[in-house]
Amino acid sequence: MRVIESFEKLPGIGPKSAQRLAFYMLHMPSEEVERFSSYLMQLKQGTVLCSLCKNVTETDPCLICKNPTRDHTLLCVVEQPTDVLAIEKTGIFMGVYHVLHGLIDPLNNIGPEEIYMNDLIKRITNYELRITEVIFALNSTMESEATIMYATKELSVFRQSSDLKITRLAHGLPIGADIEYADEITLKRAMEGRREY
Ligand SMILES: [Zn+2]
Repeated sequence: MRVIESFEKLPGIGPKSAQRLAFYMLHMPSEEVERFSSYLMQLKQGTVLCSLCKNVTETDPCLICKNPTRDHTLLCVVEQPTDVLAIEKTGIFMGVYHVLHGLIDPLNNIGPEEIYMNDLIKRITNYELRITEVIFALNSTMESEATIMYATKELSVFRQSSDLKITRLAHGLPIGADIEYADEITLKRAMEGRREY
């Protein structure tokens, strides 16, 4: 079945899981399968990147950026849209996000231009936005270090004339662990125990 091959291409799905999903769908009511496939078709057509935070969204600005009850002076920097979902699930963070869509990785020729780094710097240094704290919620990797180092360097002049605080998640996250897969309690603790950089 071709659908098994398609499932197999998804991250985290092995051949066995792909088979199980395909046979499960075979027994689902037709309307449900149709709805599912129409959602898949709309996935690419119906989504854009939020012009402010670069998160994947159906409206621009996204619901988080548009929400007046969130603290827009508190900016959480993440690598991928899935990290936003993981942090939102903890319910602990009430600020706004910036999604980089990657990390600086000199070994693989990924520089600041290849990710949404310049947008981040522009956003932070815009006095009108009054951003007071930037939290780097990145996984513990060499690429994260390079990314935070670059941003900190770019912001050093701005920091002399502002009260900007740069923080990062506490080392509650194991080295190499994915924020996306961290359990809620670990992530909550890491967010609460964030320290200044
Ligand atoms: Zn947004």
